[in-house]
Amino acid sequence: MFCYQCEQTAGGKGCTQVGVCGKDADIQSLQDTLIFGLKGIAAYAYHARELGYKDEEVDGFMHDALFKTLTNVNFDLNDHLGSVLECGRINLKVMELLDQAHTAKFGNPQPTPVDTGTRGGPGILVTGHDLLDLYELLKQSEGKGINIYTHGEMLPAHAYPELKKFNHLAGNYGGAWQEQKIEFNQFSGAILVTTNCVQVPPPNTYLNRLFTTGVVSVAGATHLERGDFSMLIEKALSLPALPEAKGKKITTGFHHTAILGLADKIVAAVKQGKIRRFFLIGGCDGAKPGRNYYTELAEKVPQDCVILTLACGKYRFNKLDFGEIDGIPRLIDIGQCNNAYSAIQVALALAKVFNCSVNELPLSIILSWFEQKAVAILLTLLYLGVKGMRIGPTPPAFLSPKVFSVLQEKFDLRLIQTPQKDLEEILGVNRA
Ligand code: SF4
Repeated sequence: MFCYQCEQTAGGKGCTQVGVCGKDADIQSLQDTLIFGLKGIAAYAYHARELGYKDEEVDGFMHDALFKTLTNVNFDLNDHLGSVLECGRINLKVMELLDQAHTAKFGNPQPTPVDTGTRGGPGILVTGHDLLDLYELLKQSEGKGINIYTHGEMLPAHAYPELKKFNHLAGNYGGAWQEQKIEFNQFSGAILVTTNCVQVPPPNTYLNRLFTTGVVSVAGATHLERGDFSMLIEKALSLPALPEAKGKKITTGFHHTAILGLADKIVAAVKQGKIRRFFLIGGCDGAKPGRNYYTELAEKVPQDCVILTLACGKYRFNKLDFGEIDGIPRLIDIGQCNNAYSAIQVALALAKVFNCSVNELPLSIILSWFEQKAVAILLTLLYLGVKGMRIGPTPPAFLSPKVFSVLQEKFDLRLIQTPQKDLEEILGVNRA
C-alpha cells in the first residue's frame, strides 16, 4: 500500500503507523466509519436522484465529510465522533428522501403475499435494490410471455401498487445474495443485476445469461445501457422455460403507513399484555459462519413477541410460519435496508402513543451487518440516541477497541452472544 503522507510504501522503513502517518488509530477508525457511512448514503442518494429527488444538504455533507478525511486536515477525535453521528442524521434524511421518491412513483407499499414458486415459461430474475430498473423491465417485457421474478433485496418490490399491478411480476425466487451461485445456476432464465450484492466471479454456467446495469458491472457479463432491456428480453425468450412449481407464500410490504394502519390493534395488544415485546431483527446477510444466530433467535423469540425485519438477513427465517397475535402477524417484513426509515417512523409513533422515549419501548434491536448501507443505518440509530442495540455476527473491524468502547459507554452498544443468552438478558430486563 502506498502512503500519500510519506510518499513511501506503508509499513516500509521510517513508517511508524502503517498507512496512517500522523493519525492515531482511533481517528483512522472514525474516518473509516465515516467513509463507510458515506458509501451507504451515496447508494440511497443515487436511487433517489434517479427518481428525480435530490437534497443539497445531503450532497454538501458528503463533500465536507470526505474533505475531512484528507491527510493532515483534522486531528480532533471529538470532532470526528460528531461527524460520524452527523453522518447518521444525513443518512436518515436520505432514506426519507428515497422513501418519498419510491412512494411518489410506485405508491405506498401494502402488505402483499408473494409466491416463491415458478410459473411455466420463460423468466427473468432481477436482483439488487433498484425499483426503477424493475419497473422499466416490467413495462418493456409486458405481453411478451415472460415472467419476472425478484431475488434477494428486490422482494419488497411486490408490495408497491405500481409494480404489483403487472401480472407477469410472478414471484420471489431463492434467498439472500450469498446463495446466488446455487440459485442462479438452477434458474434457467436470464438474470439482471441492478445493484449489490453480486457474487463474483460468476461461474460459466450462467455468465452468458447474466446482465448488469447502472453502477454494477461484472467481467464477462453483458452490461446494459440504463433503461434499455431489449437484449435481456431477447435472451430470456431464447432460454429454456422454467417449470411450473408450487412454492410457499411470504408476505412483505409492511411500510410504516401499513403498520401504523394497525396501530390501534398493536397498542391494544400491548396494553392487554398480548404482545410482550418487539424484536427488530434486521440487516444484511452474508456467507460467513455465525449468522445462524439470527435464525435461531427468530425461532426462539417467545410466542407473545412480534418480529420486525428488513433487508436480506430475513431470508434465514422468512419462510417459517410465525403465526399471528390477535390478527397481527408475528413476522412483519418492513422491506429493504433503506426501509429502516419506516422502522424508525413506527418506533417514533409508538413512543408517542405510549408517551415514552424509543429507548423505553418494549423493543430490542438486533442487527446483522455486512456492507456499507448497514453501517450508515447503524449510525442513524446512534444519532437518534437508540441504546442497547446488539450487532453481529462479528465486531466491525473498522471500529478500533477505543471507538467501540466509547460507543458501548455512550450507547450501550453490544455484540451478539448466543440467542439463548441474549433472550434471557432482553426478557429479564423486560420483566424488571
Ligand atoms: S441487505 Fe445488505 S447484504 Fe443484503 S443485498 Fe442489500 S446490501 Fe447486500
